Formats: sequence, structure tokens, C-alpha cells
Amino acid sequence: MTLSGRSFDPTRPPVSTTGPVVDYSLARRSTLEALRGGRLATTDVCDAHPELMRAGKNIGEEVPAPCPVCSHETLRWVRYVYGDDLKHNSGRVVYPTDWLHELMANYDQFTCYVVEVCTDCAWNHLMRSYVTGRKFAGRPPLRERKQQG
Ligand SMILES: [Zn+2]
Repeated sequence: MTLSGRSFDPTRPPVSTTGPVVDYSLARRSTLEALRGGRLATTDVCDAHPELMRAGKNIGEEVPAPCPVCSHETLRWVRYVYGDDLKHNSGRVVYPTDWLHELMANYDQFTCYVVEVCTDCAWNHLMRSYVTGRKFAGRPPLRERKQQG
């Protein structure tokens, strides 16, 4: 497994992604299956970085779903941005949400990571990462692109 998306460490830039949008839902599902099958312990997956926990509690976006591990309504999404272009802003939490639009208007290219974190049991998993910025302005997200013909 090269890029599981588990145990997101906000202080270290994640492994660079391979495409404009990377979806981690399959990795997330297999992590949860491993947990249910006893191949992973709760302590293996509920190990959110303290900074991620704090960000989740203070400014995390509420997720309309229960935590897959503890079933509490305490799931949050936290967005981080990384990129050489961003300089001192690299590695920062996106807050308020509009700040992302400002970054997109001012920087050519950077990567945004969406991390799911449970503020109760500390479950955390990368959900999605995407490359964005001025260079990518006006390009619709992959899911909204219509199929040819
Ligand atoms: Zn939980």
C-alpha cells in the first residue's frame, strides 16, 4: 500500500498525488473492512494528529453522516492546502471556506486535501485531494464533466 490516506499528518506535506483529483473512498472502505475483520485495531485507525483534532473541533465542516467507527455524529471535514507556490500558506487549514477561492485566484497551482476526522474517537482518513489554482480556473470538476457522444 503506497498511499492509504490514513493517519493524515497536517505538519508533513502528504505524498504528491498522481492526478488532478484523487478519491480515497476505496482506501477508506478497505481500511474500515480491515477494522471490522480484525486486521486493524481501533487504535490503529483512531489516531488523529492533535492539530487535526483541534482543527476538526474548531473549524471543521459538519458531515451529515455518523462516524464509521464510533457511530457518533461527530464527523468533520477539514481542508488543507499545500504547494510550493503557496509559500507560508502551505500546510494551512482552509478557513473560512472563501479563503480557498482567494488562493485559487492568486496562485497558479496547489493541492487541496480534504480530511475526515471524528472529534470523538479520533478516526481520520483522507477523503479527496485535488490540484487547483489559477492554471485550472474554469475547468469543471471531473464528476460534472459530461461524457462524449
Ligand atoms: Zn468516531
